[in-house]
Amino acid sequence: MQKKRDSIYKRFNPAVSAETSLGSPAYWFVFSSNKLLVTMDVAGMIRLPFAEDLNRWRIKPIRQQYLGVWNGAPCYSVEAEPDIAAPEGMEFRGLFTLYGTFDEDLFHLAGRAIQMVEWDQTNQYCSRCGSKMDELTNERAKVCPSCSFTSYPRISPAVITAILKGKQLLLAHAQHFQGDMYSLIAGFVEPGETLEDAVQREIMEEVGLKVKNIRYFGSQQWPFPHSLMIGFIAEYESGDIVVDGEEIAKADWFDADQLPEIPTEISIARKMINWYAEQYTDVKELIE
Ligand SMILES: [Zn+2]
Repeated sequence: MQKKRDSIYKRFNPAVSAETSLGSPAYWFVFSSNKLLVTMDVAGMIRLPFAEDLNRWRIKPIRQQYLGVWNGAPCYSVEAEPDIAAPEGMEFRGLFTLYGTFDEDLFHLAGRAIQMVEWDQTNQYCSRCGSKMDELTNERAKVCPSCSFTSYPRISPAVITAILKGKQLLLAHAQHFQGDMYSLIAGFVEPGETLEDAVQREIMEEVGLKVKNIRYFGSQQWPFPHSLMIGFIAEYESGDIVVDGEEIAKADWFDADQLPEIPTEISIARKMINWYAEQYTDVKELIE
C-alpha cells in the first residue's frame, strides 16, 4: 500500500571491497559523534564531500568502510575523531535534521553508513573470547580467528501498526513523546515471534486491544541506532482501550479530519497516518 519509489538498487551496487575505485572521486559519509559532515549549496541542498580522499579537509579516518558504487561513484563511510570541528564552510549534522534537504538515495545511504561505522567500531573484538576480529572481504561480516564467532551488522526489527475501527484510527501519546504528539503503536520484535505476533502483543500490552486482518503496509530503515520499522494496517477486533500508564500515557480513537499533533514526515508513522487520512477524509489539505 505504500507508494513505491524505484529501488535504490537501480542506482546503487553494494559491495564490501573496493575493486577499481582508487583514484576516482568518491562520496564520503564522514561521522564524528554520530553527526555527518556536509556542506550546503546555494540552493539549500545538502552535499557530501566528493573527492578522491579526505586530505583537503584534513580529516584522518579512524576507520573507514567501503559501501559500494552509487551513480557511478564509490561511497565510503568514515569514523572520524569524536567532537572534531568541521572544516571551513562545512558542518556536522544529525541525520534527523537532514531529511528533506538531502537526496533520498543519499539519506538512505547515510543511514547505511552510520550503521556500518557503529558496527565496525563496536565489533573490533570478539564478544565471545575477546580476540581481535578479522574482516571478511566477500560479505559484511567479521570472524574471530580464535573461536570462529561471526559478527554481522545488527538490525533490530520493530513493528508499527495503524489500528482502524470503522473510520477511526487509534493514536497514542507515549510518555517520552515531546509536547502533545500522538502516534501509532510500535515496539520491537522479540525472539521467537512472527511479525504478526509482535503486532498483537504490542497492541495488547500498550492499549489492551485485540486486532484482526493484519496487512503489510511497507517498511523503513530507522538508523537511530539500528532499527527496521515494519508497518502494518490492522482492524480492531475487541477490547476497551487500557493504557499501561508507563510507556503509553493516553490513547484514543481519532477521526481523519480531527487528528492531533502527529510525527514529522521522516517517519513511517507519518506516512501511515497520511495514508489513513487520504482514505478516510475528503479534506486532504489538512494533511501536508
Ligand atoms: Zn572469539
